[in-house]
Amino acid sequence: MRSFDYLQPSTLGEATAHLRSGTEIRLLAGGMTLLPTIKQRLAAPDALVDLAGVPALTGIEDEGCSLLVGAMARHAAVAASPLVRSRIPALADLAAGIGDPAVRNRGTIGGSLANNDPAADYPAAVLGLGATIVTSEREIAADDFFLGLFETALGAEEIITAIRFPVPRAAAYVKFKAPASRYALVGVFVAQTAEGVRVAVTGAGPAVFRVPAMEEALAADFTPSAVAAIGIDADDLNSDIHAEAGYRAHLVTVMAKRAVAAAAKGF
Ligand SMILES: Cc1cc2nc3c(=O)[nH]c(=O)nc-3n(C[C@H](O)[C@H](O)[C@H](O)COP(=O)(O)OP(=O)(O)OC[C@H]3O[C@@H](n4cnc5c(N)ncnc54)[C@H](O)[C@@H]3O)c2cc1C
Repeated sequence: MRSFDYLQPSTLGEATAHLRSGTEIRLLAGGMTLLPTIKQRLAAPDALVDLAGVPALTGIEDEGCSLLVGAMARHAAVAASPLVRSRIPALADLAAGIGDPAVRNRGTIGGSLANNDPAADYPAAVLGLGATIVTSEREIAADDFFLGLFETALGAEEIITAIRFPVPRAAAYVKFKAPASRYALVGVFVAQTAEGVRVAVTGAGPAVFRVPAMEEALAADFTPSAVAAIGIDADDLNSDIHAEAGYRAHLVTVMAKRAVAAAAKGF
């Protein structure tokens, strides 16, 4: 492996200064994606800036109508948080279903969102709940954050510091897992929020997306049968060794029905 510097800031200001000190400098969260990427020589940073020693990036706070989850919150911490469990149980369930125990104890919500893997789970919750991504520079609405395959609105020197999740009236996430990795072949997050119903799909396309036809139908009738006849066009969906686009399109409707049924139990 090519050598690189390992930097350990203790404040967000130090982390930002490190990031601005060169072009090939990468943030390190849990390393679950970044370290294999370096090992495979797909990335060759001059330095890694480890965010693990920045206390301001951890923690989960109750803001009343919303929860503020620190970017360095590990998946296991979100899954085990009594606060998340009581206010947004669908988010705790989602975190508990990511990968395996090793991944959940190292992986972070900030790393997952910055990476924006097309099959990652958290993007579905962030888009489905209409969350806000708080960064070192600004606040970005979920609708403006996920731009495409592994692409986000983050600038090169921008650090995700936290995610603000509005507490929904009811929500649920259901995914059809790839058996080996537990990544979503298709995952659907459904939420009834103060702003209306939101439906977000991960795993099916190049990046997470909403399904307006389902949202309109559920606004009128929040039952599984309301989405049962709503299909997704397979043309823009992913085909790979795990599933063809047509199968993924079928799964979107099936997972949406199950998510609505699970969310409706929350009323
Ligand atoms: C075997 C395996 C199974 C997995 N299964 C699932 C699954 O079922 N569902 C799922 O959703 N995910 C899954 N993952 C992904 C995992 O959940 C991690 O969240 C993801 O790999 C990102 O890892 P990380 O948080 O350690 O970030 P890192 O790997 O450290 O970083 C990832 C990228 O994000 C950048 N970054 C990190 N933190 C920040 C920040 N605060 N601000 C800006 N940029 C930042 C880094 O520079 C890097 O480019 C799996 C991973 C593995 C290895």
